Amino acid sequence: MSHTAEIIAVGTELLLGNIANTNAQELSQRLSDLGINVFWHTVVGDNPERLKEALEIARKRADIIITTGGLGPTYDDLTKQTICETFHQPLVLHEDILEGIRHFYETYLHVPMPDNNRQQAELPEGCVIFDNAVGTAPGCGFAVDGVHVLMLPGPPHEMNTMLDRCAEAYLRALSHEVIVSHDIMTFGMGESNVDELLHERMSHMTNPSLATYAKPSEVRLRATAKAADSETAEAMLAPVVADVREILGDVVYGIDVSGLPEACMKLLKEQGLTMATAESCTGGCVAQQLTALPGASTVYRGGVVSYWSEVKADVLGVPQDVLDEFGAVSDPTARAMAEGARRITGADIAVSITGVAGPDSDDRGNPVGLIFVGLATPKGTFCRKLELGSRRRDRLQGIATNHAFDVIRRYLSGLPVETVTSARH
Ligand code: ATP
Ligand code: MG
Repeated sequence: MSHTAEIIAVGTELLLGNIANTNAQELSQRLSDLGINVFWHTVVGDNPERLKEALEIARKRADIIITTGGLGPTYDDLTKQTICETFHQPLVLHEDILEGIRHFYETYLHVPMPDNNRQQAELPEGCVIFDNAVGTAPGCGFAVDGVHVLMLPGPPHEMNTMLDRCAEAYLRALSHEVIVSHDIMTFGMGESNVDELLHERMSHMTNPSLATYAKPSEVRLRATAKAADSETAEAMLAPVVADVREILGDVVYGIDVSGLPEACMKLLKEQGLTMATAESCTGGCVAQQLTALPGASTVYRGGVVSYWSEVKADVLGVPQDVLDEFGAVSDPTARAMAEGARRITGADIAVSITGVAGPDSDDRGNPVGLIFVGLATPKGTFCRKLELGSRRRDRLQGIATNHAFDVIRRYLSGLPVETVTSARH
């Protein structure tokens, strides 16, 4: 039997918009991995009447209710009392938990336990107790009339630790299915093109299923299978992943990688190569995204943010006559920037970006969105020209950065680098 869960996040701070409901996001991801359907997220303030109302609704439509927040010792922490009233569960004082909380205060906080912490040691009769290894308020789970209720604390690190150590095992015991997903990452084809190629297939699929998620200039496809065990789910997914790869071709740059920078890093590592950067209009975005990855030092030598033409000429050695004749935003300048970065760093390959990020066209009248991505390699120098049109400055920088990584990825994969498969990004 498959389960239906509702997550109830308790906290007035959430309703006021002071904090985002990241606990619900985390819980949803975990429940999905466990094969438990989440059909509702509810947020309710620190108000017992409204929480009771939310619980009454939830118990009619879900058989697993998970609450977060309101387990602390203060006057507004009323989750446990309200749940127990709603489900007619008596609260029982646990001496050993009380001792544990007292010990926590005396040993770690060096103060006596305040009296109001006593209520944290009271838990519903007959519940499974979830120990709080990083805080004081324990959580718990119990079942009434076929509905499981789990109470977890609000602070995310307490909730996550409790999930890892206790609550996940409780949930796993309820579920007889696992969900396995694989992300198929693509760059170079717009979402509508991807959709056109796969729509027919996707609309007929239920298990495994295939869904698209588009970011500017990238499309991620998620293939998901539900089965009794992960081996069966993997066997169901393998042909789907193979099919998508076949249909979309070389715009697929990886499976289950975080993005193009990671795909490039993997290829560089596999081939024992290093790279460098020369960036103008992206101001170091490529370098930043690469160095955000652990282990970047094995593949990234360094780079130059050459914003002024003088820096392009004096540091990277772009010939003055190239800058005079073609301008800073041009194919020959992009090539010379990449070659310069490769030369001065000694890297195997170097990528460069020069373009007009806007909001105004440059002094030569080049339009916003005209960007050149250069790549200097032992096999010669390449350049990809982009005409992205007028868009927000940060969007243009983001897309240009993706193209720089795509150029590297395609070169290292033995694919042509100067063309982009699709004009729509
Ligand atoms: P405490 O013992 O800290 O009082 P609690 O279980 O009573 O824990 P709350 O008082 O509701 O939890 O929330 C404590 C803090 O946890 C909040 O100030 C907020 O920073 C964080 N928090 C609570 N709920 C959420 C949520 N749904 N998503 C993200 N963070 C949350
Ligand atoms: Mg609290």
